[in-house]
Amino acid sequence: MSRFYVTTAIDYANGDPHLGHAFEKIGADAIARYHRLIGDDVRFCMGMDEHGQKVAQTAAARGVEPQALVDELAARFSALWNKLGISNTRWVRTTDAHHRRGVKAFIEQALERNPDDFYEKTYEGWYCVGCELFKRENEIADGRCVLHPTRELQWTEERNWFFRLSRYQDFLRAHFEANPGFILPESRRNELLALLDSGLEDISITRARLSWAIPFPKATSNGETQGTWVWFDALPNYLTDTGFPDDESWREWWPAQLHVVGKDITRLHAIIWPAMLQSAGLPLPERVWGHGFVTLGGERFSKSSGVTLDLDEAIDRFGPDAFRYYLLREVPWDSDGGFSWERFAERYTSELANGLGNLASRSTSMIGKYRQGAVPASPLEVDPVIADAVARYRAAMDANLLHEGAAAAFEVVRHANAVVAERQPWSVAKDPSRADELDLTLASMVRYLAAAATMLSPFMPVKTAELWERLGSGRDALPSLDELATLDVASWTVQSGGILFPRPEVAAPA
Ligand SMILES: [Zn+2]
Repeated sequence: MSRFYVTTAIDYANGDPHLGHAFEKIGADAIARYHRLIGDDVRFCMGMDEHGQKVAQTAAARGVEPQALVDELAARFSALWNKLGISNTRWVRTTDAHHRRGVKAFIEQALERNPDDFYEKTYEGWYCVGCELFKRENEIADGRCVLHPTRELQWTEERNWFFRLSRYQDFLRAHFEANPGFILPESRRNELLALLDSGLEDISITRARLSWAIPFPKATSNGETQGTWVWFDALPNYLTDTGFPDDESWREWWPAQLHVVGKDITRLHAIIWPAMLQSAGLPLPERVWGHGFVTLGGERFSKSSGVTLDLDEAIDRFGPDAFRYYLLREVPWDSDGGFSWERFAERYTSELANGLGNLASRSTSMIGKYRQGAVPASPLEVDPVIADAVARYRAAMDANLLHEGAAAAFEVVRHANAVVAERQPWSVAKDPSRADELDLTLASMVRYLAAAATMLSPFMPVKTAELWERLGSGRDALPSLDELATLDVASWTVQSGGILFPRPEVAAPA
């Protein structure tokens, strides 16, 4: 059994979760579930990023303590992940005592190994509280951060600790070249290679007068203890979650196999974080995946520009599993894609209600009617349609192309419905001399359903478990992918009745 450690970005505790957060977590969850399906021992960490100036400001504006604000938000995010069936095994919060100790130990380790990586400097520049970053000239338009056009940039001038990021430029380029899969998809890799070409600047990693932060372990020369810059505190969460530094078992899980993050923070994960790890003498994560954004009417979701969507409404429209499936099928995991209520309803109706749902109900009811629920025996030959779909599914899922994985799985459903339409088992059933032919058709329908339930389980864990239960295999666990094309379904006892995906007019609230 191999180990697979996957993380998502930890969410900034400054506002409510939105569709962008949900898209990332659902995608990472599908990846985690796929790895469990192929037999990996999976560690799946998510959490909250709870320090920094923006949190302190929001708390002050609401008249609450920062800890009260982050507690409330952590509960809200966590409830949402629960509702969406996210199967994370770990939940890290950067205000946890263990994480705070871990960050301190991590920085001390880097300070000890590479003291020259840290130096003091007076820095001045435009600071965006939205990004918690100093902005370069080309990141500013009309005097505002291009990503936060409604926020005032702050002219900031102070003496801080700096991290000598520039020193890692050649190391990073060599690492990118030796490990072409380190940052994917390809478009993200090209962006970061261009950034390396343009040269890395050292970064300020502490803030004066920032109390809502992990204290930087080394005071400045004037004796001031500054707050650690929020990203320098947040990125190590992936490491501290494994138990670093107190619990020696951290070495069993670090480095992570995959960091799933949004494309806007790939620079932090594929450049700054690896440089930090190298400075501390620790192994680098194996892969960073920078997914794209979900847009609405071509625009990125943003509260400030009024592009919003009621997440609860979207999840409740057809239920969490349908929402998960729609997003991952519709929005390519390696680029951007749009959310639309029309497309959502269309896919729900054609693929889930009329496709998979209808296949399940007509198959189980025919077996109930013609064979008293007992699935007939059939020759155990390789089903070429299933074998082909599994091969394409595996290739897509191994490459994190979730939308293609879902499409490959759905080919089985489409094919099965075509087989039913062509063979018309209800007419065959009228002729007792064609009983063998009927047995064959009914058995293959169950095999198709079992294959679909298995391959779609990372996308729709609840509905596929319900379907699997109704197929009456007597097995608790789903079959392995290798079994699917020759799965023996003889004498399974199917249960008919119950609609897996009610039609939209029934499913949607008035
Ligand atoms: Zn900004």
